[in-house]
Amino acid sequence: MERFFCPTCKRFYSLHPMRWRCDCGSYLDLEFKSKFFTKIILKRNPTLWRYREAIPIHQATFILSMNEGFTPLEKIEFKGGQVRVKMDYLFPTGSYKDRGATVLVSKMKEWGVKKVVEDSSGNAGSAIAAYCARAGIECEIYVPQSTSREKLVQIQAYGAVLKKVEGSRERTAEKAMEAASGIPYASHCWNPFFLHGTKTFAFEVWEQMDWKAPDTLVLPIGHGTLFLGAHLGFKELKEAGMIKRIPKMIGIQSASCAPLYQAFKKGWKETRPIEKSGRLETEKETIAEGIAIAKPVRGRQILEALRESGGEILVVGEEEIEDTLKEMGRKGHFIEPTSAATIAGLKKYLRKKRQKEMVVSTLTGMGLKSTGNML
Ligand SMILES: *Cc1c(COP(=O)(O)O)cnc(C)c1O
Ligand SMILES: [Zn+2]
Repeated sequence: MERFFCPTCKRFYSLHPMRWRCDCGSYLDLEFKSKFFTKIILKRNPTLWRYREAIPIHQATFILSMNEGFTPLEKIEFKGGQVRVKMDYLFPTGSYKDRGATVLVSKMKEWGVKKVVEDSSGNAGSAIAAYCARAGIECEIYVPQSTSREKLVQIQAYGAVLKKVEGSRERTAEKAMEAASGIPYASHCWNPFFLHGTKTFAFEVWEQMDWKAPDTLVLPIGHGTLFLGAHLGFKELKEAGMIKRIPKMIGIQSASCAPLYQAFKKGWKETRPIEKSGRLETEKETIAEGIAIAKPVRGRQILEALRESGGEILVVGEEEIEDTLKEMGRKGHFIEPTSAATIAGLKKYLRKKRQKEMVVSTLTGMGLKSTGNML
């Protein structure tokens, strides 16, 4: 059976009672062994639950699914070459966050939870709210006042109680953590069950590339839940002997909020408050609202994954994001500005790509979620 594991002080905890952090204050990981049976996988429906032996929900009765996942891996031509891009804006709630929400809320159901609290810049809140609605779990979502109107409407449409918080994204997280002293915290950044959902990104890419890993992944980083999930997924595939190498992981941040870029460049083990000089200013708003995270909970883990995989962080400016948003529209993909930031970074990376290097990236969120800053 699984256990919680603290990567900071190395303590173990049983999964009962439920908890969202270690007594030492650190985030927790999950001790779990994944299995992959390709013949069985191929017989199952095209959803992310086809990798069931690699997802830590054991009884089918607890699985809350809207047939999400197994999104297309489409070839797109860019100036620097061809890239395979996951269409993760085609999830039930319009963002990749459903990967984590379907697994985390299934676990909440198994735990017998009646009510949860979560904080988000919009999409994680929408995803948790949707799956809680399916589970009959009450849900309170804390969001920054500045969240796009579309995301606010969506969260409420699922019947969640919306709590708007003035000030920064960090202030919103503090408010949710206060509420979480009395209500279970369904946090996408703290709870490792979310990462055991986002890791299915790796499994799908592996299957869609004929059971091989790509050379390089280009992914967004805010709290890093997709980045860390993809890294975990490929690590599990490697441990199971399914692939030889974990892809090189390239993370993309917005130049207006790039704590991981700063820490990576300076060789730090942990992120620090963003320097208020030069390009790295935190006060300046970015239209990539989904990755504007000044204090990523799992910063140290992200930096370890980056360095372990031989990857790096690239930052993109507002103009590059806007131009890429338009360019992707002309290619038939209406995505939100946060997703355009990833592709703007991808284009930068392609300038130094090797000839035969197989690069995979993703479109994380649908354009209708955030139209206020467009055109
Ligand atoms: C949440 C989100 C991201 C970034 O994910 P993190 O887990 O914060 O790194 C990127 N794009 C979209 C559309 C998102 O909703
Ligand atoms: Zn600890």
